[in-house]
Amino acid sequence: MKKTEKYLYNRNIDKNSNFAMWMAFPGVYSFSMSSLGYLWMFKTIDSFADINIERICLDTEKTVYNISDIKLFGFSFSFDTDFLTIFAMLEKYNVPLKAKDREKFPLVFAGGPVVTANPEPYKDFFDFFIIGDGEDINLQVVTLCKENQDKPKKEILQMLSGIEGVYVPEYPKTINKLTQKLNECIYTPILSEEAFFKNTFIIEMARGCFNRCGFCLASYLNLPLRCVPYNELIKTIDLGLEHTNKIALLGAQISAHPQFHDVCKYIYDKIKNGEKIEMSVSSLRVDAVTDDVIKTLTAAGQKNSTLAIEAGSERLRKVINKNLTEEQIFKAVKIAKNNRLKGLKFYGMIGLPTESQVDLDATVELARKLKKENKGFDISFGFSSFVPKPHTPFQWCGRENTKSLEEKSNFLKKELHKLGITTHISSIKWDYWQAVLSRGDASLNDFVLEVYKQGGKLGAFKTAAKKFNINTDYFAYENYSFDKQLPWDFIRVQPGKEFLIKENKRLLSIT
Ligand code: SF4
Repeated sequence: MKKTEKYLYNRNIDKNSNFAMWMAFPGVYSFSMSSLGYLWMFKTIDSFADINIERICLDTEKTVYNISDIKLFGFSFSFDTDFLTIFAMLEKYNVPLKAKDREKFPLVFAGGPVVTANPEPYKDFFDFFIIGDGEDINLQVVTLCKENQDKPKKEILQMLSGIEGVYVPEYPKTINKLTQKLNECIYTPILSEEAFFKNTFIIEMARGCFNRCGFCLASYLNLPLRCVPYNELIKTIDLGLEHTNKIALLGAQISAHPQFHDVCKYIYDKIKNGEKIEMSVSSLRVDAVTDDVIKTLTAAGQKNSTLAIEAGSERLRKVINKNLTEEQIFKAVKIAKNNRLKGLKFYGMIGLPTESQVDLDATVELARKLKKENKGFDISFGFSSFVPKPHTPFQWCGRENTKSLEEKSNFLKKELHKLGITTHISSIKWDYWQAVLSRGDASLNDFVLEVYKQGGKLGAFKTAAKKFNINTDYFAYENYSFDKQLPWDFIRVQPGKEFLIKENKRLLSIT
């Protein structure tokens, strides 16, 4: 625990327990302290009277417990390349990387969106995975491990595999993804001066998004949309404001919350009454940009915001199920400007299924009009390239090849530069490897280990694929047929494969 940390809950620090675990964050301390899911998981387990738990990060120097005391070593796994830091942390404490090479303890496990979507490329390294929202089963998992710590590892794993939502690779079974009700509000339980978002009280307003864009894992992995009740939100905002004046509202699409406007009004009224509040929100949906919302954001110190439009043409926006009209986009910019926002960043994707040069030209034309009609207002663009994600209607769609995506990327950069628009485009090569990992199967386990051993840079991915003769293009580029058995089919996520097939056909037939 660092000196600058402030706990917002009562800790039971006089635990008399013979069971200790580490909750690990695969990144540096400052990021860990802005990671809501990680901190909340820590808080829930920390509240158990007879479990000692410690947080560790990549840059942790000293630990309270020795690795020899640790019975459970849990990782949050939120980004495809987190495996690199996870391996580095296991090695730092001399824990063998492969589960089969580990003695009984510590049992190493992971949870988070990457392994919930598709744990297969990493199954050799973890004793078990938590698939979906783990809030409710932590107690069950940890208690089972504690009560049976004297039993052989195999027996403990077999028992764990009996818990709903726990995937033990040694005992494969069909897993129903865990879906947490969001009756209580999840918030930053520990504030820190050293957090990436310094002293910021983050509040999860909603989980999931009803919009169901065809590529969107954040939506499809979290259906149905769950919203924290308004009164609960207000109570939590007030709790946060007792300790800090920095509030961040979080959700895949916070404006999907039916009372988002009421929450903004609540904060706006406080600011008008003299309270100094800084508030930020994750990206907004264009049709949620209203005078009230932007007025609140600017009053709370936000200068810029991001609008995810995904594609420049209306046709392509329909194909991905983001049914936004150009009129709505222009209206949103007008509202943002009128309410004194300084600028907007438009976020889009390239290489979406069915995209052609006509769609790219539409993006440039949209940018040109936006720039022309909004002189003095800061307009910028950001793009990433389409990566097919499990459990989405576009999971069967292969990604466009790297050469052609790089040409598209150069085209957009050049054309937007001519208009004087700052443009940031993610690395097409990294996105390729992301696609490989997203749709990969168990044959990638030795590959990811080799990538790590080779240093984890782009070249390491190539070398590792060559060494094991893996056709990575197949995972990234191939259009899969609907009857193909997918590596993640054993994970059942609502609304299910039948629906995804229907939605895939519906979206891709839009002209
Ligand atoms: S609106 Fe955003 S969060 Fe919602 S489904 Fe579309 S991309 Fe995902």
